[in-house]
Amino acid sequence: MQCNVAGRHDWSSVLLVLAAHASVGIAASTSTPRPSVQQIEAIYADAVDDAGVITTIDSGLFDTYRGRDLDWWKQRYSRQRRELAEHAARISTRRLSPDDARALRIMRGSLASTLPENPLFAASTLPAPTGHCGETSRTDIGAAALRDDMYACFDSLGNHLLFEGKVVSRDSAITLLGQIEEPARRKALFLAFAPLWEAVNGKDEPGSPYRRMIRTAAADAAAHGSGIEAAGRDLGLMPAQIEEWLTRILETWREVTPDSPVEPWDYRYVAGEGDRELTAAISAASLLPVTKRYFHDLGADLDGLGIIYDLESRAGKAPVTYANYVTMGRVVNGHWRPTLARVSASYSDSGLYVLNMLTHESGHTVHYAAIRNRPAFMDIGDDLFCESFADVTSWNVYDPAWQQKYLGHSVAERGGLRSQYTMVTLEVAWSLFELRMLHNPDADPNLVWTEITSRYFHVVPHPEYSWWVQRGQLVTTPGFMANYGLGAVVTADIRQRIRSSIGPFNTGNDRWYPWVSRNLLRSGLQFDTSVILRKFLGRPVSLEPLLTDIRRIPATAPISPR
Ligand SMILES: [Zn+2]
Repeated sequence: MQCNVAGRHDWSSVLLVLAAHASVGIAASTSTPRPSVQQIEAIYADAVDDAGVITTIDSGLFDTYRGRDLDWWKQRYSRQRRELAEHAARISTRRLSPDDARALRIMRGSLASTLPENPLFAASTLPAPTGHCGETSRTDIGAAALRDDMYACFDSLGNHLLFEGKVVSRDSAITLLGQIEEPARRKALFLAFAPLWEAVNGKDEPGSPYRRMIRTAAADAAAHGSGIEAAGRDLGLMPAQIEEWLTRILETWREVTPDSPVEPWDYRYVAGEGDRELTAAISAASLLPVTKRYFHDLGADLDGLGIIYDLESRAGKAPVTYANYVTMGRVVNGHWRPTLARVSASYSDSGLYVLNMLTHESGHTVHYAAIRNRPAFMDIGDDLFCESFADVTSWNVYDPAWQQKYLGHSVAERGGLRSQYTMVTLEVAWSLFELRMLHNPDADPNLVWTEITSRYFHVVPHPEYSWWVQRGQLVTTPGFMANYGLGAVVTADIRQRIRSSIGPFNTGNDRWYPWVSRNLLRSGLQFDTSVILRKFLGRPVSLEPLLTDIRRIPATAPISPR
């Protein structure tokens, strides 16, 4: 999932929102005293809760909350948001303490990120597509509309792939590519993505929808900085160093993986040996109990924390897996009312990949529950930080000792590491792809992807296919994938720091949750990610723990794709 972006606002839209309300504020300011940060923060806390409740009711989990229906919450949200905007425009910013100034900055920024006019379109959520898919070839639509239309194609085409006479979703197809035994069927499933590829990248001509969009995105990144640079800043990296780190990860992966060429439709199958062996040991019914047991062993009682798991499928439910809050923790009548967090998913498949996702989302929920701070600082941080923390626990499902304890069956470490780092390095590859496209938007994306995958993954070149089109973020938020690619560096470094401080936690360690809560999570948004990481690690983020971990994969004879 994508987390909130409170740390990274699009300031131009914030200023527009503030400007829209400024006249009201100025007119009123002659008679009304200027609001204090505390007053604004009380309004903000209500608006945050309203947004959480509205999103939850919209998901279909509840019809009402605290006896109030959706309309009531929507009306209160609009009111609170309007007041927030008015007050935030009127407050005097002179003589604010650094914490108050930061709180105010976050609250102002929320109007364009976590608290937009329609909270269902918050930057933290993956909304239902609003575009049409089918207009992507039109050259007269704007960049935003083009992105919306391409994203819509991920649902209308990507989640309706035609394979052997049946309709298959994108997630299921990706799982199946790791499982189907017959190479010809794998290739047929791979080619079932072609309508999506074409909707996004046409015939890879210079005027293709993606190539038009990436030119605009590159101009925007050149003027205002890119998501990749923002992610790099979290790690203390200068822009020029980011590419070097990404390529060093991929070089290391290249060295430990067999150099026999592999077709792109076989790539996930070759990597999926461990997953296939364990599939029988993981029933859909065991996913949640296993997750709860593992977190319990880490000192985080998911039931005791009140985490809500909404795992039943129903009509209209979002087709993605995500975690979110319902209401944020805050002091009510002098007592701390804890954060209420939830996980939403509809699992039709089981397996290690799904178990990894459920553990990851649970990582987000314990993160929410660990924060204890003033309302403006109550959130799980920017995308890079929250995603990398969620993986701190989820990577353990690939560990043989973890599998033995929680599944009663394990695969050799080589298979587990291979599965884990196949996912991680694909995200690193997309990060590098986006970095190169944003630097050189006139490049041919199929060639850029082919060069990366044939060099680092030993994949047979197929520049005739736009098979890089697999992730929605590539079209909605160019540069976003760096949060995952560079996030892996942070995950590995945090994991090493935890191990060296309180010992291993791969099969449980009841000091884990109290310790990470206190040392890493509790302050929420009070500090920048780069500051939090530096304090937690006691030094700048290092690439070495990740490279060392990847090197644990013993170089072996090639695994035959059959
Ligand atoms: Zn996530």
